[in-house]
Amino acid sequence: MLYKGIPAAPGIGIGTAFVINDTEFCTVKRNIAKEDIPSETERFKKALNEIRSELEKTKKKAEKLLGKKHVKLFDAYLFVIDDPMLKDDVLSKIVSDRVNAEYALHEVLNKNLKAFDKIKDEYFKERGRDILDVARRVLKYLSGAHKKKIISVPENSIVFAANLTPTDAIAIKEDGIIGFAINMGGKTSHSTIMARALEIPAVVGMNDITQHVHDGDITIIDGIEGVVIANPDKDTLENYKRRRNMFLAEREELILIRDLPSVTKDGKKVVVSANIEIPEEVKSVIAYGGEGIGLFRTEYLYLNRKGFPSEEEQYESYRSVAEKMFPNPIVIRTMDLGGDRFLSYFHLNEEKNPFLGLRAIRFCLKHPDIFKIQLRAILRASSLGNIKMMFPMISGVGELRDVKKILEETKQELKQKGVPYDEHMEVGIMIEIPSAALTVDVLAKESDFLSIGTNDLIQYTLAVDRVNEYVAQLYEPLHLSILRLLKNIIDAGKSAGKWVSMCGEMAGEPSYTEILLGLGLEHFSVAPSSLLRVKNEVRKANYSDAAKTTDEILNEADRDLLVKKVKQKRIY
Ligand code: PEP
Ligand code: MG
Repeated sequence: MLYKGIPAAPGIGIGTAFVINDTEFCTVKRNIAKEDIPSETERFKKALNEIRSELEKTKKKAEKLLGKKHVKLFDAYLFVIDDPMLKDDVLSKIVSDRVNAEYALHEVLNKNLKAFDKIKDEYFKERGRDILDVARRVLKYLSGAHKKKIISVPENSIVFAANLTPTDAIAIKEDGIIGFAINMGGKTSHSTIMARALEIPAVVGMNDITQHVHDGDITIIDGIEGVVIANPDKDTLENYKRRRNMFLAEREELILIRDLPSVTKDGKKVVVSANIEIPEEVKSVIAYGGEGIGLFRTEYLYLNRKGFPSEEEQYESYRSVAEKMFPNPIVIRTMDLGGDRFLSYFHLNEEKNPFLGLRAIRFCLKHPDIFKIQLRAILRASSLGNIKMMFPMISGVGELRDVKKILEETKQELKQKGVPYDEHMEVGIMIEIPSAALTVDVLAKESDFLSIGTNDLIQYTLAVDRVNEYVAQLYEPLHLSILRLLKNIIDAGKSAGKWVSMCGEMAGEPSYTEILLGLGLEHFSVAPSSLLRVKNEVRKANYSDAAKTTDEILNEADRDLLVKKVKQKRIY
């Protein structure tokens, strides 16, 4: 059986399924005698204390293994443990209803989670999951169901769970588990962020995979395509073993080109830089020889917390990444909030179509005071590293001028105070809305560089929601309309004398590298784990031949044929 999800971390794992099925922690109602109330409330308090100290221990381990930033996630759990909802409500239920602690907790949870579920805000949904994760731990403890701790997962297992908590992620890293797939997960979920940092194959957003896969099943996890196969037939298994071996062999071989230049056979030098979502990823960028950071997403600073980050906190973050990458450049993208990334601590009206709503630069233009804090932090950091600034979701030249006006004001304010910043810092824009792609000649004149955000450009051009699994098959980077738009953007940027990068996921797919070179792309920005694979394709390609192939492709009206042609090139 084959199940599809969202690829979260590349690689292929073949192993035995280890299913953490939450229905195991069923709660039975027990009526208790009045004199047993004190011991029952004590039992519940003890469980909370035990889980708290377990979380604190794991938090320390996490800090060592993954760095300080991930510790915030544990703070969210600790916050739940001390939340009166969990403690006081359960205690009073034990007393008033004279029921066992497990049942009281179960009842309180049910009531509250239903309320969370009704709120559409993604942040609240995440908080609901945090509460559920913590409550499950407490239930597990109360019912003595420690048997199936993730710590005791046998080697060579692929873990299937409803959600992967940060604590589980640490255990996974330590236990040598070979992959994981979870029911939940989207762009802003904790588990997706963790999956990237862990570098083991992972698939998220699998709905109810834990209901279909059973303990002991032979399973294949393909973190490249976002696929899980349970009990594969002999041929499929052999095929995936071959692909896994090729993937591993390629990874080992690829490290050899780490310090070699990204240059085509006929001598065309291109730049292969990295996208990062959290500063900890800089380690991988350096390990895989990234020539800078082409997209530093800054949303992590704003999500999963109780208020906006201070200018100082942002400055420290930008400065430390810039210093680690120096002399290579880093492109800091200003906040892209909205869409599927919401703030819990700042009220915004509910939108029917948030991806078409007050997102990214639109939010910043509406709240210049919040925006200016980030601009100041980036400008200040620019005096200490090789920093460039980039604006997301620019839709036209009027909007770009408005944004640049705010930037100019911020610079003047810093100047008046004598605060240093790089006066020559390059300022670029993302081309990710069709209106920008179609007026790119005008935009290029007023920007220092362009960066193509194919994730959004494809969604808006093809009218295919990038997070909707029901239309995922229509999300086609090789659609003729996309290829024509890309050509238009790259040509216009070059004729205006500006450099053009691509930082959407399309840039990191090795089977597209030759086509992109053929379209004239000279700057790629890709996930750290794709750096070497893309560089390898560049080194195998011939720039002038690629241009000829792409010319043919641009005249190819039969989309299916075109997709087939390019996908055939896949090596595993
Ligand atoms: C994109 O849209 O391609 C992009 C890189 O930005 P994000 O994925 O953060 O929207
Ligand atoms: Mg985008």
